[in-house]
Amino acid sequence: MIPFNAPPITGSEIEYMQSAMNSGKLCGDGGFTRRCQQWMEQRFGSKKVLLTPSCTASLEMAALLIDIQPGDEVIMPSYTFVSTANAFVLRGATIVFVDVRPDTLNIDETRIEAAISAKTRAIVPVHYAGVACEMDTIMALAQKYQLYVIEDAAQGVMATYKGRALGSIGHIGCFSFHETKNYTAGGEGGATLINDDHMVERAEIIREKGTNRSQFFRGQVDKYTWRDLGSSYLMSDLQAAWLWAQLEAAESINQQRLRLWQRYYEALQPLAASGRIELPYIPASCQHNAHMFYIKLRDNEDRSALIAWMKEAEILTVFHYIPLHSSPAGQRFGRFEGEDNFTTRESERLLRLPLFYNLSDNNQNTVISSLLSFFS
Ligand SMILES: *Cc1c(COP(=O)(O)O)cnc(C)c1O
Repeated sequence: MIPFNAPPITGSEIEYMQSAMNSGKLCGDGGFTRRCQQWMEQRFGSKKVLLTPSCTASLEMAALLIDIQPGDEVIMPSYTFVSTANAFVLRGATIVFVDVRPDTLNIDETRIEAAISAKTRAIVPVHYAGVACEMDTIMALAQKYQLYVIEDAAQGVMATYKGRALGSIGHIGCFSFHETKNYTAGGEGGATLINDDHMVERAEIIREKGTNRSQFFRGQVDKYTWRDLGSSYLMSDLQAAWLWAQLEAAESINQQRLRLWQRYYEALQPLAASGRIELPYIPASCQHNAHMFYIKLRDNEDRSALIAWMKEAEILTVFHYIPLHSSPAGQRFGRFEGEDNFTTRESERLLRLPLFYNLSDNNQNTVISSLLSFFS
């Protein structure tokens, strides 16, 4: 069976985890956490990067940091993972869903303004498949209406928009190091990128259970106390050790993924040319990170037939999000603003192919030939 995903493994993980064990400090903010955070600050140009247990936790931190209150509205696409919405619903916000663009499946930047009300506090662009949303337009809207921008860059690590790292453009960015993402911290993990100087101190406090323990550890205060609301949003240093092995190899992991992505793209070009499928579109302003390779079929029925065909060939291909606005919780906590022209339609015909760091060329060839044979 060719799996849909396998966690990336570089080979150095065990050595670094052993080293973390030998250091006698496994809790958060140890040596490996610092290394990972500094590497990301330098590489992505963020003011402060804080490792967290997950992107879900990072999104929750973001909602706390911008003081979301009951009744506030937060704008995001409906075509996203539940955590994008939950983080704000947990603070009492109402989610306002906006349609996606059919070409990238990212929030349609031209439809955001009509969804802004007096209660709107934030826009949450989700960089689907590691392809950037139209951030210049989104940031300009945020400035015009005094809103925060929280980037859900769970899938966007190492991808850029006009040369700027995803996650470093909005006020706050959120990364995922879940095993299904391009880099993992041993299965689960995340990072919060603080791009606004004024938020750094409070971000550290919220992450440390509402205390100024981070300042205490740096010797900036002589005791630490409860300062604000907060929770425990630290990653274990054992996981940071695993993550360090991946960040050290980030360039080669990225190149390998892009190579696999390109192989799919070229091999499937004839199917696209004859109108049998659609291939992903990458706007000129975006350098993507090959987080995902998807194709679009004619409709849901075609997609089900192809999934079954591939399964018969022992290959797992999977669809993606059920739009949040059509789910029971989405209906309870949110509303769709404007027409759903593309969210439902595109979500029903999108299919993701196996793409992961350790996928062999041989196995990829099998996926490609099984796919071609379905259409011949
Ligand atoms: C994976 C993902 C998340 C959640 O990441 P976790 O690290 O599993 O919490 C959130 N948003 C998007 C868009 C994702 O793809």
